[in-house]
Amino acid sequence: MSHYDLETKCLHSGYTPKKGEPCALPIYQSTTYKYDTTDEMGQLFDLKAEGYFYTRLQNPTNDAVAAKIADLEGGVAGLLTSSGQAANFYAIFNICEAGDHVVAASTIYGGTFNLLGVTLKKLGIDCTFVDTDASAEEIAAAFKPNTKVLFAETIANPALVILDIEKFAKVAHEHEVPLIVDNTFATPVNCRPFEWGADIVTHSTTKYMDGHAVQVGGAIVDSGNFDWDTYGHKYHGLTEPDESYHGVVYTKQFGKKAYITKATTQLMRDLGSIPSPENCFLLNLGLETLPLRVERHCENAQKVAEFLDAHEKVSHVIYAGLPGDKYHDLAQKYMDEGRTCGVISFELTGGRDAAVRFMDSLKLANIATHVAASKTMVLHPASHTHRQMNDEQLREAGVSPGMIRLSVGIESAKDIIKDLEDALKNA
Ligand SMILES: *Cc1c(COP(=O)(O)O)cnc(C)c1O
Repeated sequence: MSHYDLETKCLHSGYTPKKGEPCALPIYQSTTYKYDTTDEMGQLFDLKAEGYFYTRLQNPTNDAVAAKIADLEGGVAGLLTSSGQAANFYAIFNICEAGDHVVAASTIYGGTFNLLGVTLKKLGIDCTFVDTDASAEEIAAAFKPNTKVLFAETIANPALVILDIEKFAKVAHEHEVPLIVDNTFATPVNCRPFEWGADIVTHSTTKYMDGHAVQVGGAIVDSGNFDWDTYGHKYHGLTEPDESYHGVVYTKQFGKKAYITKATTQLMRDLGSIPSPENCFLLNLGLETLPLRVERHCENAQKVAEFLDAHEKVSHVIYAGLPGDKYHDLAQKYMDEGRTCGVISFELTGGRDAAVRFMDSLKLANIATHVAASKTMVLHPASHTHRQMNDEQLREAGVSPGMIRLSVGIESAKDIIKDLEDALKNA
């Protein structure tokens, strides 16, 4: 499908029905698959033949959607997981083990920050966080001989920092490690990190890809560009025999699909974070309209950001679509037509009390701990995600008491702005 435009791939990649087969991707709601002889199935267990045998490892519905997302990103292979958290965990754990080290941008999603800073540490994998805006030299200074991965987000959730992907890719490759980029907020509609040097991309498909807030899921896509064999001493799990599969050497047997095959056959086999086929079906419906929705989210967010920026009760708006935003130039460089996402942060001059009055006066926007869905959603970090912190701690965390996080939906921009305008009267 690689010669088609992204809009076409969103509808047709991953599943091509033959004569008399359903046009809609079928849900293969089956754990197991039938074989005729003992040997036929034995071949599958040795990874000598391709085929389905148990849904924890592979399922036709899941595989079709994974292939679609891989095609959208321009990668060679993809794997779906039961959540974005599982995707980032697998992406890193597939090439890191106890005694290894990761360098990561500090502005990443809170769940990933904990995964790297707390949970992976318990497994013996250390992490050094670097300022996303740091110079190449400063990022390089965080590397150690045992560093195996550089990790960052294209658009940081919720900080809305835009990644200088080329800068990060250059540092990673100078240190002979892959760059893993979480592309959740940008989606391949706005940015394809492989085109800028990233090696592996991850997603929380829970956000724009699904878009309707009906399934939690994740995805990993490999560009196939990182040369594991050349750095085989570091990535021996890919380049040396896997005794748990009768001595399979992933790079030898699977070539460019080595990384995704290992994640499937080892990590899914042993840890099992698979999405249900039904969730993959729902995700696929979301993907079919992704380009339309992302365009509308960005168009609406731009109008909302401009409205808020001009409002007397709003002291500051963070949105890379605004010419004055710190990340406007990076967005222009890396994002198609400079479009980023539908999420905006803004600050009310009246502080915490004004923020609460504003939130409680909204009629259309839902108060919800979710972003990047079709309906407009709003959150007050000081009352919700960062509730346990006092004002001073909030400031240290870069969250001010009057800050609002707004995920602009695809309703009419006029109705969204009217809702905000009315609520601001009470702020
Ligand atoms: C939401 C999110 C995650 C976690 O994904 P879940 O699907 O909630 O597990 C990871 N990274 C980013 C950028 C996110 O926005």
